Amino acid sequence: KAHEQIPIESIEAPKNLPAHGVWVYIEQLQGEVAPVSWELMGVGRQLADKLNCPLSGVLLGHDIQPLTELAFQYGADTLYAIDDPMLEPYTNECHSIALVQLCQAHHPEILLIGATTTGRDLSGSVATALRTGLTADCTQLDVDVDNRKLLQTRPAFGGNILATILCRDRWPQMATVRPRVFPEPEKQPHRRGALVWSDLGLDPSRTVMEVVDRILDERTEGYLDEADIIIAGGRGIGSKENFRYVEELAQAIGGMIGASRPAVESGWAPYSHQVGQTGFTVRPKLYIAAGISGAIQHLVGMQNSDVIVAINKDPDAPIFRVATYGIVGDAATILPALTLELGAR
Ligand code: FAD
Repeated sequence: KAHEQIPIESIEAPKNLPAHGVWVYIEQLQGEVAPVSWELMGVGRQLADKLNCPLSGVLLGHDIQPLTELAFQYGADTLYAIDDPMLEPYTNECHSIALVQLCQAHHPEILLIGATTTGRDLSGSVATALRTGLTADCTQLDVDVDNRKLLQTRPAFGGNILATILCRDRWPQMATVRPRVFPEPEKQPHRRGALVWSDLGLDPSRTVMEVVDRILDERTEGYLDEADIIIAGGRGIGSKENFRYVEELAQAIGGMIGASRPAVESGWAPYSHQVGQTGFTVRPKLYIAAGISGAIQHLVGMQNSDVIVAINKDPDAPIFRVATYGIVGDAATILPALTLELGAR
């Protein structure tokens, strides 16, 4: 609910100050951290080591003290934290102001944010306020060490190419990264770092946003990007009637169903199960792709799965190039056979 204009423009952008360090925004809601934050800590550590600079976390919220140790255990050298009732629950206004203030005080060279609903909302406002660029939905990150540039790779032109984008002469270099693109690093239980508390210093009467209600998504089956086993069906499944073979195998081996875009558009599976560029990015232990050709827009969402089993009647289907195991044949015959065999174990 907005009452008046947001005062974020009043914050000055950093000018000609040396930037230093890799930062990760640690997204949390009521004490629960979004797993992508730890995944970013893992890749952030690699980038920081190459650039020979520290890795820092940014934690914003209220009553967040219990989470501070976790940030160090996942690799932060320094944690910048602000604890304020105005930061819980998340609002774009308060979190943007807090993050911008911290960036201006400490000048990070690189700022990484998870491409969650919250991260997508926050990153645009922060990049605008800091007068810097933002590369959304990166699937690969690296650094050009000599020029200290973040190499931000993401699908472009409808996913037909992977473009590597550089941010010239602006700081911080900002990127959002989808969940499950990078693995979560090992937690180091005894690791410690420097904890820097700051004040938000925002007058509640001057804020313009107010959360009037929170409605929880009542999913009983969990989220696709957190599933360990996914059985995905594509156009080759043929019909909604046949899609039950996908559902039955998922049920038999404790997996979730996934779908290509045509399968979703045909109404065989809901959008919340779409894998790919315009759906979820997943990284399960096992991904079974049945009747899916392996278009780049689908591959970018699942190619980092640990084991990929492809079932396709066309032996030349591109999906076989990323598959660990391939079965050439009719999905309507093979899926029920797998259900029978694996369900009995
Ligand atoms: P097809 O490409 O038609 O492949 C069907 C496959 O099934 C074929 O390989 C065929 O050999 C096989 N087959 C047929 N019959 C059988 C059978 N009886 N048994 C076994 N195999 C059989 N796609 C996504 O999936 N996710 C996205 O998020 C996504 N985003 C997109 C975003 C943009 C901007 C664009 C332009 C496209 C996007 N697409 C996305 C669409 C993508 O380009 C492909 O069209 C889509 O992935 C193809 O889906 P499919 O493999 O199910 O169908």
